[in-house]
Amino acid sequence: LLLAYDPARRLARLQISLERAAVNARMIYEILDMVPAQGDRADARPLEVKGGEIEFRDVRFTYHEGEVVLDGVSFVAEAGKTTAIVGPSGAGKSTLISLVPRFYDPSSGTVLIDGTDIADVTKQSLRSALAYVSQQPWLFEGSIADNIRYGRPDATDAEVQEAARMAQAHDFILAQPRGYDTPLGENGANLSGGQRQRVSIARALVRNAPILLLDEATSSLDNESEAAVQKALDTAMTGRTVLVIAHRLSTIAKADRIIVMQDGRIVESGTHGELTKSDDGLYARLQRLNKEADSAGDPPDTSAPAA
Ligand code: ADP
Ligand code: MG
Repeated sequence: LLLAYDPARRLARLQISLERAAVNARMIYEILDMVPAQGDRADARPLEVKGGEIEFRDVRFTYHEGEVVLDGVSFVAEAGKTTAIVGPSGAGKSTLISLVPRFYDPSSGTVLIDGTDIADVTKQSLRSALAYVSQQPWLFEGSIADNIRYGRPDATDAEVQEAARMAQAHDFILAQPRGYDTPLGENGANLSGGQRQRVSIARALVRNAPILLLDEATSSLDNESEAAVQKALDTAMTGRTVLVIAHRLSTIAKADRIIVMQDGRIVESGTHGELTKSDDGLYARLQRLNKEADSAGDPPDTSAPAA
């Protein structure tokens, strides 16, 4: 009877079946620890994280011969600060972020964390310092609690609930038929898009990792869940080194530093204030496009006082 509810055992079984299924790479990637420790150097040592500073040094990357996706990318994401990455679709933003957990290695150049080349450390230690929220949240057919605990299998029930609270998910979870024990359908079919995203953020938060990588996709959400997800992200970002691919103006403008990418290169960087000083930069142009798109979708403003 005691074995009937044994989350660790259930997770272990699930992990095996998932690895057998060799599901879509992106699904596995969200669960950083699941990727086997292949590609570690024989003399790889554990990463020692101090503040969690991330540095790209002249990084070049190609998926296929000839097609350069990142071309001479250099920047420092300061420890404990938020660095936003913006740019048109296909600029290389998701690729850039995927080099940090070493889903891929640079074709040349170096990625460092607190001054250590991440190619020299064990993937396991590297990934335990990171939490990653991918563009498409992936949930499996377990309970909601199982899905959150997946971020750290030894998390207690209290820690799972604390992460859910921070992710603005606790209340809607309690409203489910069986609360945290509610089974999710395939990829969380019984949740809304915003709810799935918040469960996925809770999963990242329960890891309590010093570095947070967010490939944010809130564009498909309705306003209410978008606001809730944004609040969840704001909490998640506090006190961590964050690399965030952002679409929302509010997220971008709040970042300590903004990196603007185009065609695999960094074309501008600075604070929102610095980047909006001139009208003809790419950032300023993207902002104008964003604003036009926003106002096009808004109902007419009826709040203006009558003159
Ligand atoms: P962004 O996130 O800025 O939209 P991506 O990093 O997803 O850009 O993509 C940059 C370029 O790399 C695009 O041309 C895209 O088609 C290509 N690309 C992205 N992922 C892969 C992949 N797994 N294999 C091959 N090419 C890819
Ligand atoms: Mg992308």
